[in-house]
Amino acid sequence: MNVVSKVSLEHPFCGLTIATKLTLNDGRKIPQLGLGVWQIRAGAACETAVLAALEAGYRHIDTASMYGNEESVGAAIRMSGIPREQIFVTTKLWNSDHGNPERALDTSLRKLKLDYVDLYLIHYPVRERRQSWRALEAVRVKEKARSIGVSNFTIGHLRELLADTKTVPAVNQVEFHPYLFQRDLLDFCAAKGIVVEAYSPLTQGKRLRDRKLVAVAEKYPSAATQRPDHGLHLPFAQNFSRHAATKSTAQILIRWALQHGLAVIPKSGNRNRIFENADVFDFELTAEDMGLLDGFNENLRTCWDPTNAP
Ligand code: NAP
Repeated sequence: MNVVSKVSLEHPFCGLTIATKLTLNDGRKIPQLGLGVWQIRAGAACETAVLAALEAGYRHIDTASMYGNEESVGAAIRMSGIPREQIFVTTKLWNSDHGNPERALDTSLRKLKLDYVDLYLIHYPVRERRQSWRALEAVRVKEKARSIGVSNFTIGHLRELLADTKTVPAVNQVEFHPYLFQRDLLDFCAAKGIVVEAYSPLTQGKRLRDRKLVAVAEKYPSAATQRPDHGLHLPFAQNFSRHAATKSTAQILIRWALQHGLAVIPKSGNRNRIFENADVFDFELTAEDMGLLDGFNENLRTCWDPTNAP
């Protein structure tokens, strides 16, 4: 065996695994893959989803006070028996709570039944954002939030904030997928040491049947042994023309985000799809296919458009 093939065997698939973490600018680490829990109903549905994710190997859960399911996220973490410090928990400051961000975080911590969150984000760039950032700096000093960051911030919002503070946000969580390939924002954040976290990475399902994307997915065989058939043949999954022999379009989108160095937080409330979305570490998109996917941009926004947030 020559040296080159030995190296590639020891570091297959860009060296990415489900345990891969990105280092934040404050020295802490965030697992690159996380489970998003927006629109998962509080109670059994959310607890089951979080437990399935932890079972599949996710160690990063993304919630928000606005999602109304922080209690269930916290309950599932306790039920899992996994030590708290091994799970990265994000929650967010909701728009109507900017009057007192520390009180809002205390409320979230009470609901989560946690002493701290790993990451606290300003959910959206409302007008009070600069003042609230100072409150986030204070909760970080008190270690109620280990890291602090922002969400839905454009380059303009980031420039304004950076001019006003010494604390560079650790993370900017924004909508990001090939159909909204924000290259300028990615480059800006890289230059400032801000990790970009991709929300709605599956376009909320809106492009999973796109023929261009299906054509890419069909190039990547799926190891049958890694795709357990739980006997559930859901009409929903068939709608997205899953091909058992190949990677799914959802897996291609997640893998694209991982290879771009983003943190990525696909949401699913379905056990099979939670496992499927984590089964993305046994293949690598070629440089050619990464370039192809980069070219899918159509400025599609499935969630907020903060472009004109004053
Ligand atoms: P998403 O992850 O792009 O898509 C979720 C949708 O895709 C759901 O309908 C889900 O249905 C479906 N799905 C998941 N896995 C699938 C698969 N393998 N095959 C086919 N369909 C699949 O959308 P998102 O929830 O908007 O974004 C993810 C997370 O980002 C959120 O949960 C939240 O944590 C975060 N987020 C943050 C913001 C913000 O402003 N900061 C905004 C939006 C989202 P099932 O559940 O039925 O599987």
